[in-house]
Amino acid sequence: MKVFAKLALLPQGWARDVVIEVNAEGVIDGVQCNSSADGAQVLDGVLLPGMTNLHSHAFQRAMAGLTEYRQHEQDSFWSWRELMYRFAANITPEQLQHIAHWLYIEMLKAGFTGVCEFHYLHHDRDGNAFTDPAEMSQRIVNAANASGIALTHLPVLYRYAGFGQQAPKPGQKRFIHDLECYQRLLESLQKTVRNSHHQLGIAPHSLRAVDEDSLREALAMIDALDNNAPVHIHIAEQQQEVQDCLQFSGERPVQWLQRRFDVNRRWCLVHATHINEEERQTLARSGAVAGICTTTEANLGDGLFPIANYCQEGGAFGVGSDSNVSVSLVEELRWLEYGARLQAQRRAVLSNTEESVGQYLYSRAVRGGALASGRKTGAIAVGHSADFVVLQESELSDSPVPNARHLDHWLFVGHSARVRDVFVAGKRVVADGRHADEETAWQRYQSTLKVLLQA
Ligand SMILES: [Zn+2]
Repeated sequence: MKVFAKLALLPQGWARDVVIEVNAEGVIDGVQCNSSADGAQVLDGVLLPGMTNLHSHAFQRAMAGLTEYRQHEQDSFWSWRELMYRFAANITPEQLQHIAHWLYIEMLKAGFTGVCEFHYLHHDRDGNAFTDPAEMSQRIVNAANASGIALTHLPVLYRYAGFGQQAPKPGQKRFIHDLECYQRLLESLQKTVRNSHHQLGIAPHSLRAVDEDSLREALAMIDALDNNAPVHIHIAEQQQEVQDCLQFSGERPVQWLQRRFDVNRRWCLVHATHINEEERQTLARSGAVAGICTTTEANLGDGLFPIANYCQEGGAFGVGSDSNVSVSLVEELRWLEYGARLQAQRRAVLSNTEESVGQYLYSRAVRGGALASGRKTGAIAVGHSADFVVLQESELSDSPVPNARHLDHWLFVGHSARVRDVFVAGKRVVADGRHADEETAWQRYQSTLKVLLQA
């Protein structure tokens, strides 16, 4: 395949009249600038590298919008979690697949080309393993295959209800693994993702849910299969979590992790929301990715990650839609900047003299998302997966930042859909804003919702 774009965002910056050649495996094997469109398929818009959504719990999409009322005087993440557990209790494998299929189509249409699925709904409703222990994981893989999105599958290791190996609560029984079962799950999934453009990683759920020994063992298990595979963990989403960690160990969660493990570029620390200056600086130096889920963190009243200082220190970050209350790349990036503006009481916080806010945010979140995915993606460059987005051009022709105006307009002006085409591994999965399966997937999703809400 050979495509041509008048304007493209390459790793070295904006380029004009770009021809990209893609081989049969869906990998870019040639990029020429200032070239002619001869023999190439001409793309109608601005070409951007594809973004990985670095944090998703697919099943939670089906409860979006259902918890926006006051139940207690002090509704919080923790009271929301009780509702989420009740909702998760009934989901069947088939229902999970229908939810994830529709969700992944929504993600593609929003401009995401990949997703890291932090998957913890493993067992049946009684908490017993399915005949195939990878049954629920397989449904996620099926949904990714049917939609065309690139998947980094992160089966969760969940052992305890809280610090100090507290016994799991009844609402957590579908999540719980012992180490032997977890190893069998990983080995089975490694066979599933082999020879595909998907990637396997691990997700020790949180420091609440795994102890130090379990975390070491999980790392050894994934190393034996793939010693570059990504490692994702929920780390400091709530003040209560920080307090519990301090009480248990005398250390804060990020500090505890940094002092015991080699937290490097393989790691993605999801919701490193509550960190002090020392933790923030160490994280920025480590090369690990801060996984920021702006809309979910706002929805759950978590707090604001100190993005402005972290970026000044050169920290890597990416964005995720997490609870999928909002499936919008635009909202994740826009509110990351707006949160920083509201805190700093000034404009254009995440930018520099060379890059507009849109370009600064997009190019860094693409790099961070790619790193967290463990896949070779996120750059229009030889050797990378041909994952890209064609954005409708902006009409703002006399902007002071002419090339970046398309990104700035997309991310900050209204909510109009500007994503025209989406390619994953060289295959066009969204064409002119439409996905081929969107009607059938939507119908199945709606019927699934109906059944789940009756339950
Ligand atoms: Zn999460």
